[in-house]
Amino acid sequence: MKVTFYGTRGSLATPGEGTVRYGGNTSCVAVWGEGGSLLVLDAGTGIRALGEAVERGLGRVDILLTHLHMDHIQGLGFFDPLFWPDLEVHLWGPSSTTLNLHTRLSRYLSPPLFPVRLRDLPCNLTLHDVVEERRFSPPGFEVEAGLVCHPGPTVGYRIEEAGRVLCYLPDHEPLLGTSELPASRRWIPGLALAEGADLLIHDAQYSDDEYPDYVGWGHSSTSAALAFAEAAGVGQLVPFHHDPWHTDAILDEMYCGLQSSRELPFAITPASEGQSIQVG
Ligand SMILES: [Zn+2]
Ligand SMILES: [Zn+2]
Repeated sequence: MKVTFYGTRGSLATPGEGTVRYGGNTSCVAVWGEGGSLLVLDAGTGIRALGEAVERGLGRVDILLTHLHMDHIQGLGFFDPLFWPDLEVHLWGPSSTTLNLHTRLSRYLSPPLFPVRLRDLPCNLTLHDVVEERRFSPPGFEVEAGLVCHPGPTVGYRIEEAGRVLCYLPDHEPLLGTSELPASRRWIPGLALAEGADLLIHDAQYSDDEYPDYVGWGHSSTSAALAFAEAAGVGQLVPFHHDPWHTDAILDEMYCGLQSSRELPFAITPASEGQSIQVG
């Protein structure tokens, strides 16, 4: 499988602010299967450009939402394939304790916030509550969802294809308040999803200096993301969900030399828009 990044930010940033290389769109990652099937991870503003890359004739698309914060659903109504009558679209995402995914999403995809209601989309749309369906199998893939540490119902995804494993944890604060691993691995939320993954896409919104001001906001520091990746034994870490204030220059400074200075047992590739990575 191959992943391509269409949105890498925790909130919109504009090119004028020096964010050309890492990109300014919010979370959206395309996962292309060996057989040509497509998973879309989150529907941030990056999904609009992905829609232009999808070819007519594709029979099915699965969109996996981690949670319903605006930066992860903002682009959904601008994903052109939703308006193709011949396309089967499966939309997976967490329900809350009282509301299912359809009701929660409809709060955004209905007037006055958006002119088109979910039920009026021309595609053949099916919604799935992932809290009830923790394991599912879109064509070509095996997917496991699990709750992670972030405000409100939020899941991460472990995706397997032909023995290769991708883990997607874009909004996650597993080591709340610290970058030290706890005494027991069982106390690290989300670790089972990432265990032994070939590629881990993980929240690394804050620098270590910034993080103390944002404890409990649901995002990780650089060092916490590295510690989590090391505990999980991943092959490659993609720091993701960049802070909107982090320009290309700041992100370069955060990640250049990190690998050599810390002697980490995995490669680090900070997410940037347009970049593709073959998994495994
Ligand atoms: Zn987010
Ligand atoms: Zn969030």
